[in-house]
Order: sequence, then C-alpha cells, then structure tokens
Amino acid sequence: MFDSHCHLTDERFRDDLAEVIARAWRAGLEGIVTIASDADDAERALAIATSHDRIWCTAGIHPHVAAAATAADADRVLAALAHERVVALGETGLDYHYDNSPRDVQRSRFEWHLQAAVETGYPVVVHSREADADTVALIRAHPAAIGVLHCFSGGRDLFDAALAAGWYISFAGMITFRTFDGPHLVAATPADRLLLETDSPYLAPVPHRGHRNEPAYVAETWRAAAHFRDELPEFTARLVADNARRFYRLPAD
Ligand SMILES: [Zn+2]
Repeated sequence: MFDSHCHLTDERFRDDLAEVIARAWRAGLEGIVTIASDADDAERALAIATSHDRIWCTAGIHPHVAAAATAADADRVLAALAHERVVALGETGLDYHYDNSPRDVQRSRFEWHLQAAVETGYPVVVHSREADADTVALIRAHPAAIGVLHCFSGGRDLFDAALAAGWYISFAGMITFRTFDGPHLVAATPADRLLLETDSPYLAPVPHRGHRNEPAYVAETWRAAAHFRDELPEFTARLVADNARRFYRLPAD
C-alpha cells in the first residue's frame, strides 16, 4: 500500500510524528508522499522527506492561500523542484466551496502550476472542489500537463475529462462513508490511473471517522476501493502502489 497524499507537516502531527510514521510502516505501507500547501510548508515537507527513506514531498501553493502567495513564493516553489525528494508540483487547484482566495486568483495560480508542470516535466497534484467546469477548462488548456485529481469529489464530466487528458484519479477516506455516492467512479477508474490517499490529518475513513487521520488508515480506503472494483484487496494494493510510483516517478525499490 501507498499513501499518495497526506500532510505530515500539519501541526496535529507535531507531537508524535515519529510514531505516526512508524505505524504506517507497520501497517504495510511502502511509501508516503507528503503534500505542501505553500512555500514555507514545502520546506517543512522536504525536511521530513529527507530524513525518511520512503517519504517524498511536493512543492506548491494551495488555492486556499493563493491570494497570499507572492512572486518570491512562486520562485521558491520552482527552486524546490531541484531537490530529488520533491516529486511533484502542488497542491494547487480550485476551491469554490470555501472561496478562501478570489476565484480569478485561484485560476491564475492554478494555471501557473500547470504551465510550470509543462515546462519542468513534473506531475501536478490538484484539489478541485465545486469547480468542475473551470477545472475541466484548465486541464484541456494544458494538454501536456499530467496531474492527479486528489480526493476526487467531482462529477462524471470532470472524471471523464481528466482521464481523457491522461490524468490520474485519487480517492480518499470518504469512499468508506455510508453516504458516499461514487462507487461507480471508483469502479470505472482504469487500473493504471487509480491512486488512493488519506489526505491526513483530514477526513479519516470509517472506523476512525471524527478522529485525526494518519497514513496507516489508507488501509480502510484501500479495502473499500477493492470492494467497489470487485478486486482481491492484495491486487488493488499492488496496483495502487505501482501507480503512485509511476505517477511520482519514484525510483524502483
Ligand atoms: Zn491535501
């Protein structure tokens, strides 16, 4: 198993990060990618990645803080890519649910990441919430970029457009919720484009719902995905770990 998206720099991991990571390895994870939300966070994520063999990280500016980011922050994100433990741009994207940054600023910052992905060849990690149409338009406007729609919560049009563009789809703990309405999308994701993640410390899967999430809990999401896909759990686990390695272009074990 592989946790392709979590936030180990979150303050909720400050007191026991070593135990959280140890539990992930004990649960059978073979790798973790910790995702940055801004330029400072990318430096913290890199510090974690450089001190653990099987943890990698990203560099990017989250749509929530797009309006606060400066040109210097953008330069720091690009500079971070020079480090071998930084494996993707992001997370970037559009969040029209919270609207923490003005939408036009979110769109231009997302475009900047897509352009940077094309220019540098790095994949891009994308958050899209209640912004399906604009996300589709921006994916189509940058056909040379390859990305993942993380914690997928969109509709069929976004799902189809992303797959047609060669993108990956990642599901998080909400696929374990009784109210989850997208089992057909989990089942319809091609075997070579499926990723799973915790997005920890957010969105803990059942039976940990309501508590802090952590990478070891990706096992619950994996079991739900295997069930929806009618696959043997071991098969899905191998698939998802291989996909994460390919997407993030990680070295072979
Ligand atoms: Zn995230």
